[in-house]
Amino acid sequence: MNRLSDIGTIKNILSRHGFTFSKSLGQNFLINPTVCPRMAELSGADEGVGVIEIGPGIGVLTNELCKLADKVVAIELDKRLLPVLDETLSEYDNLKVINADVLKIDLNKLIEDEFSGMEVVVCANLPYYITSPVIMKLLEDKLPVSAITVMVQKEAAQRICAEVGSRQSGAVTVSVNYYAKPEMLFTVSSGSFMPAPKVDSAVIRLNILDEPPVKVIDEKKFFSVVKAAFSQRRKVISNSISSGLSINKAKAFEILEKSGVSQNARAEQLSLQNFADIANNLN
Ligand code: SAM
Repeated sequence: MNRLSDIGTIKNILSRHGFTFSKSLGQNFLINPTVCPRMAELSGADEGVGVIEIGPGIGVLTNELCKLADKVVAIELDKRLLPVLDETLSEYDNLKVINADVLKIDLNKLIEDEFSGMEVVVCANLPYYITSPVIMKLLEDKLPVSAITVMVQKEAAQRICAEVGSRQSGAVTVSVNYYAKPEMLFTVSSGSFMPAPKVDSAVIRLNILDEPPVKVIDEKKFFSVVKAAFSQRRKVISNSISSGLSINKAKAFEILEKSGVSQNARAEQLSLQNFADIANNLN
């Protein structure tokens, strides 16, 4: 068993380092010993593979990743955790911890510098206050990674893994599906963390596509159509794109007709191809 998921061990380490949890940094550490080995295994961490971890905390998942992968680079914002990680992961020489904000660091450069010639995957128990921005940054930066395995709040996981065109879908569903094929792996109860968050979590894997599934002329336009369509999801599409993209109603009708989309459809009923057609017909 990974001793780092033993609650007594964690409390002892943290108290020796005078560490207190920061709610604003989304610090809920895993204490369920079955979760990290499973997550690390399913992430694709393996011989010949490099792993980027975001937010190692005290290193419970990092420990499993270091056992499986050739190299792990863990990005942790809270510098109070650096001496803790020095202690908990001292046995590994295939680990590098970087003190940085994942939203600010140049991940393409990091991959070039640290993982040249290797297959790379991302694996992380994400701080929930930045779930969507982190996932979108990982995808929009077009990193040369094959998969992104992340633990997120269960509701966020369900939204991301919903079918595009279903009632559960949202802007994040469409955006993620442009870059990847999302997959729900398993759920994790709130009692698996210390301190326990109010909601359950789930582990998902985004299998990165070689090419987007639809042809888009201008990606910026595509994402602004998606954003506009879902910003008022109860409105019909002609209203939401006309107000969200500041175009007049007549123009919105024209674009929808050209795209073969009913003006009375709602964002959640549209396919990826519909969004692409609308964006490609905007000029
Ligand atoms: N991986 C550990 C585990 O599973 O027990 C900790 C996960 S905890 C949910 C999230 C971690 O992300 C914390 O260690 C927190 O300090 C770190 N973190 C928060 N914001 C961050 C950011 N912007 N960049 C990098 N790390 C961040």
